Amino acid sequence: MRVLVVGGAGYVGSHTVRLLNSLNHDVWVYDNLSRGHVESVPRERFIQGNLTDRSLLMQVMLDKEIEAVMHFAAFALVGESVQHPAMYYQNNVTATFELLEAMRSVGVWRFVFSSTTATYGQPDKMPIREDTPQNPINPYGFTKLVVERALRDYATAYGFGVAALRYFNASGASADGSIGEDHDPESHLIPIVLQVALGQRDAIQVFGNDYPTEDGTCVRDYIHVEDLATAHLAALEKLKPGSVLEMNLGTGVGHSVLQVIEACRKVTAHPIPAIFADRRPGDPACLIADSSLAQKTLGWTPKYVAIDSIVETAWNWHKTHPRGYATK
Ligand code: UDP
Repeated sequence: MRVLVVGGAGYVGSHTVRLLNSLNHDVWVYDNLSRGHVESVPRERFIQGNLTDRSLLMQVMLDKEIEAVMHFAAFALVGESVQHPAMYYQNNVTATFELLEAMRSVGVWRFVFSSTTATYGQPDKMPIREDTPQNPINPYGFTKLVVERALRDYATAYGFGVAALRYFNASGASADGSIGEDHDPESHLIPIVLQVALGQRDAIQVFGNDYPTEDGTCVRDYIHVEDLATAHLAALEKLKPGSVLEMNLGTGVGHSVLQVIEACRKVTAHPIPAIFADRRPGDPACLIADSSLAQKTLGWTPKYVAIDSIVETAWNWHKTHPRGYATK
């Protein structure tokens, strides 16, 4: 299929581009490089542009005879969204509508959307199913929920076929260590813990140890980035005009911050000092996925479930690229 991957030079996008390429799809990456890395995607398939540039998007879709769009170009940091909500609503909502309208103008109807567990807020019951009420507790979650709701309407009114994939915590790196996670500044748990192992930081700060969880630290469901890529492809292949797929992507297993740090100690053989710090605003205590819908609908199962195996791929990437893509 001819696929435009918007935000394809980002973390999850680049791993998905790689999978699509390996299966001989005709893939084009559209990214403004505000957070992505051109080194993570094939140069000859890269187009630099903004989401807000509707005419360029239309031109690219027409020129390349695009049949489907995957949309990864969003800001995705809970803490940042609390501090800078305007930036989040502008980029994740307003700019996304430019993309949807560009698609509508040129008749592209297949759309795979990166949604998030943050749309659920903090539900009472774990694991989280798709029918769990979506009550976001931070601006990031709201921005994604707004688009999810709009996609239902675009499917009904305009015949879009949409998939909203609600990721839990994307983590790890490609199995061969050639691409991986590189944010600046880094805010995600696993890369930061591994920066301590690399000697780039003195200690990991644990944000809150008074949560109502077993060890008092936040629990998350860490899902490998290559498993997310596989799910995107499976969802793409299921799209039909007017159809709506909304599903969770996680492993169904939760790990606390302390457990993740322990896994990193084991994998890296480094003591990794940890310091307890205040809670980070906007963080729910516990998020674990029930992904049985994706398993049933897409025939998808995550390959990586053990946290050690996820951390191993991340460590392989970080130790060979201690400054991320800048070392290349
Ligand atoms: N976290 C932490 N110290 C850090 C970074 C993250 O304790 O330096 C915690 C954070 O509060 C959350 C978990 O690790 O409970 C995962 O955070 P991350 O930013 O990786 O992903 P999020 O869950 O926000 O999408």
